[in-house]
Parts: sequence; structure tokens; C-alpha cells
Amino acid sequence: MSGKVAQFRSTASRGSILLYLASKDEMFTGRATYFRVIFIMMPGFVPERVFFEPGALEYSLGRKLYDHFHDAGTTVRMTSSHNRVTGIPGDSPTQAYMEAKGTLVVGVKRGLDFAPCKPSAHYQLPLATGCPGKCEYCYLATTLGNKPYVRVYVNVDQILARAESYIKKRLPEATVFEGAATSDPLAVEPLTGSLARAIDFFAGQEQGRFRFVTKQTAVHKLLPLNHRGHTRFRFSLNCRSIIHRFEHGVPGLDERVEAAGLVAAAGYPIGFIIAPIFVFPGWKKEYQDLIDLLRQRLGGSVDLPFELISHRFTTRAKNRILEVFPGTGLPMDPEDRQFKFGQFGYGKYVYPKTTMEEIKAFLADAIISRFPQAKIDYFV
Ligand code: SF4
Repeated sequence: MSGKVAQFRSTASRGSILLYLASKDEMFTGRATYFRVIFIMMPGFVPERVFFEPGALEYSLGRKLYDHFHDAGTTVRMTSSHNRVTGIPGDSPTQAYMEAKGTLVVGVKRGLDFAPCKPSAHYQLPLATGCPGKCEYCYLATTLGNKPYVRVYVNVDQILARAESYIKKRLPEATVFEGAATSDPLAVEPLTGSLARAIDFFAGQEQGRFRFVTKQTAVHKLLPLNHRGHTRFRFSLNCRSIIHRFEHGVPGLDERVEAAGLVAAAGYPIGFIIAPIFVFPGWKKEYQDLIDLLRQRLGGSVDLPFELISHRFTTRAKNRILEVFPGTGLPMDPEDRQFKFGQFGYGKYVYPKTTMEEIKAFLADAIISRFPQAKIDYFV
């Protein structure tokens, strides 16, 4: 590495540092071509307070987390149930939301009937609920109440044993489990290690498959695992300006794409969710730049599934978002949208049909021209 100088550049998001090596010439001229990129992961989620169910302390993971936070001087309290936690501060909706996002609750998952997760998987795998990220359009905004605290479950062995019983019941068919139906499980992975255990478990299941979606990048401990291709990482992406405006407390675009490259290089199946897709001045160029970035990092011969989700909102979600983010710039004017009844009986506002067709045609073309082997799983 002679002639190269290591330089640290800290990224916008908390929890990771991007290290690259630039030549002296590059540093002096300001032309810092990326020579090599390495991620150094630090704990992604550092809660301000942690609640424990007494029963969680009977499990080694619960005990380990208790000792960890106790030794770190974090505020630690007990709660009788992870479903009803009192004592999280915050008078206004915004304060309550922000304080809850800094709160971790460590509990035992009791009801072990897994929820179905159609159409992308057969069942949810409940390792965690909630997410410390603060994306303004988060799909969890309307489902986790006024205080969307982050929950992790310590009875991982029981959860995985239950998954095994579901797999056995469906033999000889394969059974697919979704690990991110109500959380971003990678956000808490540096604390729990539960994803690593799940990946290891599914590697041993001939007819069990695991998938999850994330905006996080703490992948380093998962790379050396003998996954046998049974776990698929999907990274949730958007174009740069949308991430900048609406996604808070999560790693930026370059970090996510780098993490995806590392995961792909470790032999895991990967995929991308581009969501929510917005139409705004210059949207085609920005989404084209996103696809070009993926091509540059991953090459063109990768067999990639893409899931494409256009922006939509319900009246309930809009009201909740306006409470928590009163100054939000999210476009949510019903006049600009078409009202559509959803499968669960409530209506949502989607882009008009012609706009939807334009988005679909543009992105399908952009993706297939850069990744001829890609598959677009769906566009909604
Ligand atoms: S990362 Fe995903 S789950 Fe977390 S706040 Fe953002 S949209 Fe919600």
C-alpha cells in the first residue's frame, strides 16, 4: 500500500465509519477517487433507556443485555410486559415518538403462532418489533401506537424451534419466513446476534428459507457465516434526495450499497426494494443514477430481484405523519392522487394510473438495461 494514506471519513449516520484509502495526490488535488472501501461497524443502535421484562432475565441473551446496559450506565428499568411499557417521556406527539425511538424493550415472545406474511413469504419470523430509524414515511408509523419503542425477544431458541415445526408441517414444500415484517432486524443485530442465529438455523433446514429487508449496514459479523444460500438480504433503497429529505437515523445510500456488495460477495442471495418511489422534478435522472450506482458496485451479471413500490398513503397515515413531523415535505395532497380501496378494506391514495404506468415503464427499462438478468418481482 505504499504511497497510500489512510483517511477516515465519518458518515452522516450514527453507528458506522467509512474508511477509504486515497493516494497523497488525490488528497492534495481533492480528487479522492475511492480506492478501497471498508466498513467498520460500531453498535448501530445505542438506546437511551432500556426496559426489561423480569422473565427476559431467565434467558442468556436477556442476562447478557442486562449486564451490558447496566455496565454502560444506560438507564435500566423493569416492565411487567413488553406490550405495555409506561414511563417513556414525551408530552407532544413528536417528543413521544423521538423518545420511544430511543427506547429498547427486552422481552419474551409468548404467543408463538406466527402471523402469515403473504405474498412474499409464508410466515413472519418475530425476532424484533419496531425500529430506531425515523423515516417520515415509515410503514410502522400507524401500527405501533404513539410510542413506537423497539422490542427484541430473547427466547430465540423457542422462536426458531417453532419455525422448525412450521417447516415440518409443510414438507415436502419449502417454507419461507420474513424477518422484517414489523421491524428492521439488522438495526438491533449488534446487540442481540439473533439474525446470525437465524441464518445459522436456516442453513440447516433443507426446506426452510429466510429473508428480511433492511436499511442498515451492520453486516460484518454475518458475512463469514455458512448460510448455504438459504437467507436472502434485501436492501431498501431510494434515490439520494429522497433519502436525504425523509429518512432519518439510518445509513445513507452509499453505505447501504456498499453493504449490499459485501453481502453479495459473501455469496448470499440479495435483492433490492426501491420504495417509496416518488415523482418530482428530475425524478427520472435520480432513479437512473440509483440504478447506475448499483450496476457500478455489483456488476451486471448478478441475478437480482427488485421490488418496486410507489408512494401511497392512507388518511390515517397522513394524519399521524403530520402529528409527528409537522413540517414534513412529504407530498400527501389527495388532489394529486387517485383513491383506491385496498385489500384490507381501507382506502389509500396512489399515483394516477398514467403516472403509475410511466414509473413502471421507466424503472423496468432502467433496471433491465443495467441488469439483464434481473427480475422485477412486482410493482405496486
Ligand atoms: S428503516 Fe424501515 S422500519 Fe425503520 S423507520 Fe425507516 S422505514 Fe421504518
